[in-house]
Amino acid sequence: MNSPPGPWRRSLARLRSSFRGHQPTNPTGATEMDRRMMRRALELAAQAEAIGEVPVGAVVYETASGRVMGEGFNTRERDADPAAHAELRAVRAAAATTGDWRLNACTLVVTLEPCPMCAGLLVNARLGRVVYGADDPKAGACRSLYNLVSDPRLNHRCEVVAGVDAEPCAAILRNFFRSRRSARRPPRGERNA
Ligand SMILES: [Zn+2]
Repeated sequence: MNSPPGPWRRSLARLRSSFRGHQPTNPTGATEMDRRMMRRALELAAQAEAIGEVPVGAVVYETASGRVMGEGFNTRERDADPAAHAELRAVRAAAATTGDWRLNACTLVVTLEPCPMCAGLLVNARLGRVVYGADDPKAGACRSLYNLVSDPRLNHRCEVVAGVDAEPCAAILRNFFRSRRSARRPPRGERNA
């Protein structure tokens, strides 16, 4: 595999350093449906990983019925699209399914705390609930760095449930960055050659 260019390598270093710490567990407010959807989001994250993308997955479901309205995983590298985050793709798919940009009746479930771009989208889409797994201390905009989704100055606030399956959500990211590191390292015997 070719070595990634400089900026990508730097952002990898920033990201992977974020998931070494302990992640919160036993969140309050998570429903059985939230947990079931998080397992699906983790499957979607694995699909991202399989094509070499940072593994983040997201599902939007109708809160009352549990019907899946949209799914997505990160395809930023494949699509050369800085906006192709898992949440953004899942929310767009859900709006297409419902035929309405307003998603008050829906819950977004995502493996990683949404960034400022995605948190802004969730406010604009009037998402009813946001459920996420691992905290992102370097870019999180639901409580870690900012709290855009519950800011009373904005015209919509989402109910937030943090830390659902936080450990497996962080682990898939840790493992991804670890395997990228070892892929870049020359095999034993060729080192110091
Ligand atoms: Zn994002």
